[in-house]
Amino acid sequence: MATQTQDALSSQPVTQASQTLAPSSPAAVTGTQGGSSEKEAKEKKAFERWTKTLSLITGIGLSKEEFQEEVDKIDRKQCELRKEQLIKTSPGVRFMMNNLVKSGCPLTKNMLECGPCDNTKSGGFSKDHGILLCQNGFFSKKHQEHTMIHEMIHMYDHCVFNMDWDNLRHHACSEIRAAALSGDCNWSREVRRGFYTFTKQHQECVKRRATLSVQGNPKCPSRDAAEKAVNAVFESCYNDTRPFDEFY
Ligand SMILES: [Zn+2]
Repeated sequence: MATQTQDALSSQPVTQASQTLAPSSPAAVTGTQGGSSEKEAKEKKAFERWTKTLSLITGIGLSKEEFQEEVDKIDRKQCELRKEQLIKTSPGVRFMMNNLVKSGCPLTKNMLECGPCDNTKSGGFSKDHGILLCQNGFFSKKHQEHTMIHEMIHMYDHCVFNMDWDNLRHHACSEIRAAALSGDCNWSREVRRGFYTFTKQHQECVKRRATLSVQGNPKCPSRDAAEKAVNAVFESCYNDTRPFDEFY
């Protein structure tokens, strides 16, 4: 998105208009030049790009579907770019990828996909399709990083343990581990939220997030059932930090 905006704003029409003091309509800009048609065409293209960027910002001049299509494209591009960067530079992502290889379940690139999701999600793991990264669900690169690690922990659990995702206790255990180890509940985020006692708050955050995720399991009848499943396995699963030595 940054590239597109920069392109559009630094391109010809603006400069030309100020040089010639012409009104800022496309006809006027190209009309006052009287130059080669190649130049005109170039300026017209730049202007179209520029108005498209403006349309995208204002939403004027695009249908709802066109607007969504453009937003999806931009989201996907950013998600893909960050994914590549994180695979190269994030210690947590690299650590998990290495451990998936070691466990006999390597994560190939086509198993780590960016796509649009409903607004409440940031990612998902499916034993058949791999990991989905919600391109419209991240509020920062850090958030995407934590989500990648979170989903990789589910994948690791599926690979290493005999997981039955329909069993709420199994699911709860994996959610507890994913929330605890991914950085979802890490210290700096909790401090930013105004909490000061690390250990207790970390556990509370893990419980809260795990419960919410288990609630999303189609086999889960109620919030109460989710809470029960989380509480039943919390101690053992919270303390099982494999493949990490301790909380990342
Ligand atoms: Zn999860």
